[in-house]
Amino acid sequence: MQLYNTLSAKEREALIDKAGKDRLTISFYKYAHIGNTRILRNHMYIHWDALDVLGRIYIAHEGINAQLSVPSDNFKPFKEHLDSISFLNGVRLNIAIEQDNKSFLKLKVKVRDKIVADGLNDASFDVTNKGIHVNAEQFNILIEDPETVLVDMRNHYESEIGHFKNAITPDVDTFRDSLDLIEQQLSKHKEDKNMVMYCTGGIRCEKASAYYKHKGFKRVFQLEGGIIEYTRQVRDQNLDNKFLGKNFVFDQRRSERISNDIISQCHQCGKACDTHVNCANEACHLLFIQCEECAEKMDNCCCDACKEVIALPFAEQKKLRRGKVVSNKIFKKGRSEVLKFKH
Ligand SMILES: [Zn+2]
Ligand SMILES: [Zn+2]
Repeated sequence: MQLYNTLSAKEREALIDKAGKDRLTISFYKYAHIGNTRILRNHMYIHWDALDVLGRIYIAHEGINAQLSVPSDNFKPFKEHLDSISFLNGVRLNIAIEQDNKSFLKLKVKVRDKIVADGLNDASFDVTNKGIHVNAEQFNILIEDPETVLVDMRNHYESEIGHFKNAITPDVDTFRDSLDLIEQQLSKHKEDKNMVMYCTGGIRCEKASAYYKHKGFKRVFQLEGGIIEYTRQVRDQNLDNKFLGKNFVFDQRRSERISNDIISQCHQCGKACDTHVNCANEACHLLFIQCEECAEKMDNCCCDACKEVIALPFAEQKKLRRGKVVSNKIFKKGRSEVLKFKH
């Protein structure tokens, strides 16, 4: 039995089109002690592959973090399978706001050291001593309190296209950097202010809130289920939506629109725009914001140099790439001297 994805993205796309069935984009995470990560990994792969589930799943001794696309018809057996695993019984599933049948095109279940690359030494603090979870209604009340400081725990390219009103949005590339920066900024308010934090689906706040409590913050709150669950509750319960713009997500959709505000600009011409793209030059692949006119003018590239590269025959492009280490894409996201309108 093969336990790895064998179809290319193109082949998978064709299969999804042919099936003509709706799929649900779902995410969930759970911190738990997992002994044999390899066995769990294979167990999940076998069951989910049989249910035609796609997505990216990380399993570590500290837990599981999963982003999935599940055929709507198979949702019930999928959920039953999850519930049959004791530590995942009843786990909260974050259902995407905007559905897309092609949010994932492969099933990848990976064993990792950690389920989020947080850069933290977990042995140095008590990760179970977390902040208080709040739901959307409680969150809305809390962030109106003048004694509250609202912090966005995501990176610059995420908060750039959407964030809560009045949130602190650190201009950082990594989670680790934002932890330090926020601590510095709020060092005088460790005891007298409510520190309220949020992220995409809640997972980053699970660690961040424990870390800040360890650092001496006394009143730490976190938005349970993150922006995704907040939006669902706001719609279901007809609450005031305090989120502006788009929620950046880590699948083919790249984002979900939460409000009609466009709070960012095209990095090339400066006009209002919140569409992320990757530079068409595979060797560059820079993630940045580009409007449709600039995409056309630049052949979907980030700069003239990349535009020249993609105009070359493929063999030439490959030759150029040979021997060059592709720079770390995480640190490159949305940062480049050539982007005039990236602040
Ligand atoms: Zn533009
Ligand atoms: Zn480029």
